[in-house]
Amino acid sequence: MAKNFDVVVIGGGPGGYIAAIRAAQLGFNVACIDEWKNKDGKPAPGGTCTNVGCIPSKALLQSSEHFEHAGKHFADHGINVKGLDLDLAKMLARKDQVVKQNNDGILFLFKKNKVSFFHGRGAFAKSSGDGYEIKVSGASEETITGKHVIVATGSNARALPGAAFDEERILSNDGALRIEGVPKKLGLIGSGVIGLEMGSVWRRLGSEVTVLEALPTFLGAVDEQIAKEAKKAFDKQGLKIELGVKVAEVKSNKQGVAVSYTSATGESKILEVDRLIVSIGRVPNTIGLEPDAVGLKLDERGAVLVDDQCRTNLPNVWAIGDVVRGPMLAHKAEEEGVAVAERIAGQHGHVNFNTIPWVIYTSPEIAWVGQTEQQLKAAGVQYKAGTFPFMANGRARALGDTTGMVKFLADAKTDEILGVHIVGPMASELISEAVVAMEFRASSEDIARICHAHPSLSEATKEAALAVDKRTLNF
Ligand SMILES: Cc1cc2nc3c(=O)[nH]c(=O)nc-3n(C[C@H](O)[C@H](O)[C@H](O)COP(=O)(O)OP(=O)(O)OC[C@H]3O[C@@H](n4cnc5c(N)ncnc54)[C@H](O)[C@@H]3O)c2cc1C
Repeated sequence: MAKNFDVVVIGGGPGGYIAAIRAAQLGFNVACIDEWKNKDGKPAPGGTCTNVGCIPSKALLQSSEHFEHAGKHFADHGINVKGLDLDLAKMLARKDQVVKQNNDGILFLFKKNKVSFFHGRGAFAKSSGDGYEIKVSGASEETITGKHVIVATGSNARALPGAAFDEERILSNDGALRIEGVPKKLGLIGSGVIGLEMGSVWRRLGSEVTVLEALPTFLGAVDEQIAKEAKKAFDKQGLKIELGVKVAEVKSNKQGVAVSYTSATGESKILEVDRLIVSIGRVPNTIGLEPDAVGLKLDERGAVLVDDQCRTNLPNVWAIGDVVRGPMLAHKAEEEGVAVAERIAGQHGHVNFNTIPWVIYTSPEIAWVGQTEQQLKAAGVQYKAGTFPFMANGRARALGDTTGMVKFLADAKTDEILGVHIVGPMASELISEAVVAMEFRASSEDIARICHAHPSLSEATKEAALAVDKRTLNF
């Protein structure tokens, strides 16, 4: 006898597990199926984000930053470190422990919210009555039915044609997070978020890192002024970034990897490295989902086709997160998960795509929300800009990290905030004030009139808002 559920969620990443919890909170009988296993074969819900994405990358970014501070910056504070030594095995084990805490936390949350968890792969079998039969293949095989199905099967790393991931020499994000010895020379293809974060980790730990990027501009999606400031900082740190390259061939053997490419000036070059991380984007994942069994439509990129409410072409089948259109971000997946659960309950769940924050957790951090200056120019929007450098912020000076700035873009007539861009210390935390402001459709003057604690980095946000009206107080 099939077990019947109101809602079956396929995929237990940030989109899926949050959707399952919200649906359970709303009184539905919910199942969540996830196939991720840890190295002991045990369930490891949390998806890419928890296992090989957001969480382990931030754990290693933190550890490697401590290492760099101890080696290069503690002396500025009068702290002399002698005999500094890297225990990479311990650093990686700590990262694994952080991941496990998150996996266990999700299993606990499923219990707390009475979500039935199935460890295995979920595949559409057929439509049945007023719902769908889903076959679960794992340690045991069973079939469950759901009146509603939420597909949250995520994404996989895109490989370079002719250079499949072996996770030994040619690494995806997975292998990049568990290299067992610091490579002397590390190559990276792709200077997007993941590439820059992984490059930063291994550079801090001692690798000589070269990043090859096909696009002619650095961080094209980021506000140009902010991207330039970030590039200056990365150059200073010794992260070599070559733009406008065309990779011709990647050859690897036990000794290392050779990347043949043409530089922006048309020169033929070869980059020889011990390991190569390829981070050229991610592809939506529907492997093993059997969408054809029920006629679920995919688009030309292989993403599940959805409308702006995450409805697929099938009644009561929804899809969220990396497997659908839109930014591949954990918090976007979560927001869609909550919104879909609420729509199933007849509520008006919504996701505001204009206020989704973006963060790159390098040093300096880069974070933004809303439109960039180049987007506003292209759209012919009249705007005012205000910037404030961390160099003029007391807390940043005390921290010893004065790189970067906060930048506000506001409508020229109404003063409504259209975009906020930050490069500098704790940009990932500072951006949330801008997100709140934009959600409430605040003006730059609203932020400028709010009392901010002193001394704090957030004063740079207030000052950048004042700068829109050309009346900074500390610069
Ligand atoms: C290195 C790296 C760093 C990142 N850092 C950040 C960051 O700092 N901030 C941020 O917002 N985003 C970050 N991301 C992106 C983020 O991880 C994704 O956007 C997010 O995980 C997408 O969530 P999801 O639930 O859609 O899919 P996923 O997290 O990919 O989860 C999908 C889950 O479904 C399971 N699954 C797939 N098919 C089936 C099936 N048929 N049956 C059962 N289970 C199935 C998978 O095993 C997986 O557990 C990062 C990504 C990477 C690779």
